[in-house]
Amino acid sequence: MTKYELPPVPYAYDALEPHIDARTMEIHHTKHHQTYTDKLNAALEKCPPEIQEKDILELLSHLDQVPAAQKGAINFNGGGFDNHRIFWNNMKPSGGGEPGGAVADAINSSFGSFSAFKEKFSSDTALIQGSGWGWLVYDPSTKKVGYKTMPNQTSPRTEGLNPLLGCDVWEHAYYLKYQNKRPDYISAWWNVVNWDDVDKRLKQVKS
Ligand code: MN
Repeated sequence: MTKYELPPVPYAYDALEPHIDARTMEIHHTKHHQTYTDKLNAALEKCPPEIQEKDILELLSHLDQVPAAQKGAINFNGGGFDNHRIFWNNMKPSGGGEPGGAVADAINSSFGSFSAFKEKFSSDTALIQGSGWGWLVYDPSTKKVGYKTMPNQTSPRTEGLNPLLGCDVWEHAYYLKYQNKRPDYISAWWNVVNWDDVDKRLKQVKS
Protein backbone atom coordinates (compact mmCIF):
# COMPACT_ATOMS: atom_id res chain seq x y z
CA MET A 1 0.00 0.00 0.00
CA THR A 2 0.91 3.64 -0.34
CA LYS A 3 2.76 4.79 2.75
CA TYR A 4 2.34 8.50 3.09
CA GLU A 5 5.33 10.54 4.20
CA LEU A 6 5.30 13.88 5.97
CA PRO A 7 4.98 16.51 3.21
CA PRO A 8 7.69 19.19 3.30
CA VAL A 9 7.32 22.83 4.30
CA PRO A 10 8.82 24.71 1.31
CA TYR A 11 10.62 27.36 3.44
CA ALA A 12 12.44 27.56 6.78
CA TYR A 13 10.39 27.39 9.98
CA ASP A 14 11.38 30.97 10.82
CA ALA A 15 10.61 32.31 7.34
CA LEU A 16 7.11 33.52 8.23
CA GLU A 17 8.27 35.54 11.24
CA PRO A 18 6.99 37.74 12.76
CA HIS A 19 3.51 36.71 11.60
CA ILE A 20 3.83 32.99 12.31
CA ASP A 21 6.59 32.16 14.78
CA ALA A 22 9.27 29.53 14.16
CA ARG A 23 8.47 27.41 17.23
CA THR A 24 4.81 27.12 16.25
CA MET A 25 5.78 26.18 12.68
CA GLU A 26 8.23 23.52 13.85
CA ILE A 27 5.83 21.85 16.30
CA HIS A 28 2.91 22.16 13.90
CA HIS A 29 4.85 20.40 11.14
CA THR A 30 7.03 17.88 12.97
CA LYS A 31 4.47 16.86 15.61
CA HIS A 32 0.92 17.60 14.47
CA HIS A 33 1.26 17.03 10.72
CA GLN A 34 3.48 14.01 11.36
CA THR A 35 0.82 12.50 13.63
CA TYR A 36 -1.96 12.95 11.04
CA THR A 37 0.32 11.29 8.48
CA ASP A 38 1.19 8.36 10.76
CA LYS A 39 -2.42 7.81 11.79
CA LEU A 40 -3.59 7.97 8.17
CA ASN A 41 -1.12 5.18 7.35
CA ALA A 42 -2.29 3.18 10.38
CA ALA A 43 -5.95 3.49 9.31
CA LEU A 44 -5.13 2.50 5.72
CA GLU A 45 -3.31 -0.59 6.97
CA LYS A 46 -6.63 -1.79 8.38
CA CYS A 47 -8.41 -1.30 5.04
CA PRO A 48 -8.71 -3.83 2.21
CA PRO A 49 -6.14 -3.63 -0.63
CA GLU A 50 -8.56 -2.01 -3.10
CA ILE A 51 -8.94 0.91 -0.68
CA GLN A 52 -5.21 1.07 0.13
CA GLU A 53 -4.43 1.47 -3.56
CA LYS A 54 -6.59 4.58 -3.94
CA ASP A 55 -5.17 8.06 -3.60
CA ILE A 56 -6.14 9.92 -0.44
CA LEU A 57 -7.81 12.66 -2.52
CA GLU A 58 -10.09 10.04 -4.09
CA LEU A 59 -10.91 8.61 -0.65
CA LEU A 60 -11.68 12.03 0.85
CA SER A 61 -13.94 12.86 -2.10
CA HIS A 62 -15.82 9.56 -1.76
CA LEU A 63 -15.62 8.52 1.88
CA ASP A 64 -18.59 6.19 1.47
CA GLN A 65 -16.29 3.60 -0.12
CA VAL A 66 -14.18 3.36 3.07
CA PRO A 67 -15.14 0.58 5.52
CA ALA A 68 -17.25 1.97 8.36
CA ALA A 69 -14.69 1.09 11.03
CA GLN A 70 -12.01 3.27 9.36
CA LYS A 71 -14.17 6.05 7.95
CA GLY A 72 -13.80 8.37 10.94
CA ALA A 73 -10.03 7.88 11.14
CA ILE A 74 -9.54 8.50 7.41
CA ASN A 75 -11.83 11.55 7.45
CA PHE A 76 -9.86 13.03 10.36
CA ASN A 77 -6.29 11.97 9.65
CA GLY A 78 -6.53 11.95 5.86
CA GLY A 79 -8.07 15.41 6.10
CA GLY A 80 -5.31 16.53 8.46
CA PHE A 81 -2.66 15.12 6.11
CA ASP A 82 -4.08 16.93 3.06
CA ASN A 83 -5.18 20.17 4.77
CA HIS A 84 -1.71 20.85 6.17
CA ARG A 85 -0.03 19.95 2.88
CA ILE A 86 -2.15 22.72 1.33
CA PHE A 87 -1.66 25.09 4.28
CA TRP A 88 2.17 25.16 4.07
CA ASN A 89 2.01 25.93 0.36
CA ASN A 90 -0.77 28.50 0.85
CA MET A 91 1.79 30.58 2.77
CA LYS A 92 5.14 32.12 1.85
CA PRO A 93 7.56 34.71 3.21
CA SER A 94 6.71 38.21 1.98
CA GLY A 95 3.29 37.07 0.85
CA GLY A 96 0.02 38.84 1.39
CA GLY A 97 -1.44 41.71 -0.57
CA GLU A 98 -4.26 41.13 -3.01
CA PRO A 99 -4.57 38.52 -5.73
CA GLY A 100 -4.76 39.43 -9.41
CA GLY A 101 -5.98 37.70 -12.53
CA ALA A 102 -8.38 34.78 -12.34
CA VAL A 103 -8.40 34.61 -8.53
CA ALA A 104 -9.33 38.29 -8.24
CA ASP A 105 -12.05 37.85 -10.87
CA ALA A 106 -13.49 34.79 -9.08
CA ILE A 107 -13.46 36.53 -5.68
CA ASN A 108 -15.05 39.70 -7.08
CA SER A 109 -17.73 37.66 -8.81
CA SER A 110 -18.70 35.77 -5.64
CA PHE A 111 -18.10 38.34 -2.90
CA GLY A 112 -18.34 41.70 -4.69
CA SER A 113 -14.83 42.84 -3.78
CA PHE A 114 -11.61 41.59 -2.23
CA SER A 115 -12.22 43.60 0.93
CA ALA A 116 -15.71 42.09 1.34
CA PHE A 117 -14.23 38.61 0.92
CA LYS A 118 -11.43 39.29 3.39
CA GLU A 119 -13.87 40.64 5.96
CA LYS A 120 -16.19 37.63 5.67
CA PHE A 121 -13.33 35.13 5.71
CA SER A 122 -11.76 36.78 8.77
CA SER A 123 -14.92 37.17 10.82
CA ASP A 124 -16.45 33.77 10.04
CA THR A 125 -13.14 31.96 10.62
CA ALA A 126 -12.60 33.76 13.93
CA LEU A 127 -16.05 32.59 15.06
CA ILE A 128 -15.48 28.86 14.41
CA GLN A 129 -16.42 27.06 17.61
CA GLY A 130 -13.61 24.81 18.81
CA SER A 131 -11.16 23.50 16.21
CA GLY A 132 -11.49 23.84 12.46
CA TRP A 133 -10.57 25.63 9.29
CA GLY A 134 -11.83 28.51 7.18
CA TRP A 135 -11.58 27.87 3.44
CA LEU A 136 -11.82 29.60 0.11
CA VAL A 137 -13.17 26.80 -2.06
CA TYR A 138 -14.06 26.21 -5.70
CA ASP A 139 -17.42 24.56 -6.30
CA PRO A 140 -17.35 22.60 -9.58
CA SER A 141 -21.16 22.43 -9.66
CA THR A 142 -21.57 26.22 -9.81
CA LYS A 143 -18.10 27.02 -11.21
CA LYS A 144 -17.76 29.68 -8.52
CA VAL A 145 -15.58 30.22 -5.49
CA GLY A 146 -17.06 30.49 -2.02
CA TYR A 147 -16.26 30.54 1.67
CA LYS A 148 -16.70 27.41 3.76
CA THR A 149 -16.10 26.63 7.43
CA MET A 150 -15.08 23.04 8.13
CA PRO A 151 -14.94 21.43 11.60
CA ASN A 152 -11.88 19.65 13.00
CA GLN A 153 -9.89 18.18 10.07
CA THR A 154 -12.79 17.39 7.74
CA SER A 155 -11.73 18.26 4.21
CA PRO A 156 -13.89 20.43 1.92
CA ARG A 157 -13.36 17.59 -0.57
CA THR A 158 -15.84 15.50 1.46
CA GLU A 159 -18.52 17.94 0.27
CA GLY A 160 -17.38 17.99 -3.36
CA LEU A 161 -15.54 21.30 -2.94
CA ASN A 162 -11.97 21.97 -3.99
CA PRO A 163 -9.83 23.69 -1.34
CA LEU A 164 -7.96 26.74 -2.64
CA LEU A 165 -6.89 28.64 0.51
CA GLY A 166 -7.20 27.46 4.10
CA CYS A 167 -6.64 29.07 7.47
CA ASP A 168 -6.04 26.60 10.31
CA VAL A 169 -7.62 27.90 13.52
CA TRP A 170 -6.84 24.97 15.78
CA GLU A 171 -5.20 26.46 18.87
CA HIS A 172 -1.99 24.57 17.97
CA ALA A 173 -1.70 26.90 14.94
CA TYR A 174 -1.40 30.10 16.99
CA TYR A 175 -1.57 29.67 20.76
CA LEU A 176 2.17 29.98 21.55
CA LYS A 177 2.30 33.47 20.03
CA TYR A 178 -1.28 34.73 20.12
CA GLN A 179 -2.84 32.81 23.06
CA ASN A 180 -6.61 33.48 23.03
CA LYS A 181 -6.37 36.25 20.40
CA ARG A 182 -7.45 34.24 17.36
CA PRO A 183 -8.51 37.36 15.37
CA ASP A 184 -4.96 38.77 15.74
CA TYR A 185 -3.52 35.53 14.33
CA ILE A 186 -5.92 35.64 11.38
CA SER A 187 -5.08 39.24 10.58
CA ALA A 188 -1.33 38.42 10.73
CA TRP A 189 -1.88 35.33 8.54
CA TRP A 190 -3.09 37.50 5.63
CA ASN A 191 0.48 38.87 5.44
CA VAL A 192 1.87 35.48 4.45
CA VAL A 193 -0.83 34.28 2.04
CA ASN A 194 0.70 32.93 -1.18
CA TRP A 195 -1.72 34.06 -3.88
CA ASP A 196 0.39 32.40 -6.59
CA ASP A 197 -0.37 29.05 -4.96
CA VAL A 198 -4.10 29.88 -4.84
CA ASP A 199 -3.95 30.81 -8.53
CA LYS A 200 -2.24 27.49 -9.32
CA ARG A 201 -4.93 25.53 -7.45
CA LEU A 202 -7.75 27.40 -9.16
CA LYS A 203 -6.21 26.70 -12.59
CA GLN A 204 -5.85 22.99 -11.72
CA VAL A 205 -9.46 22.53 -10.67
CA LYS A 206 -10.90 24.53 -13.56
CA SER A 207 -8.98 22.60 -16.21
MN1 MN B 1 -2.97 22.29 12.29
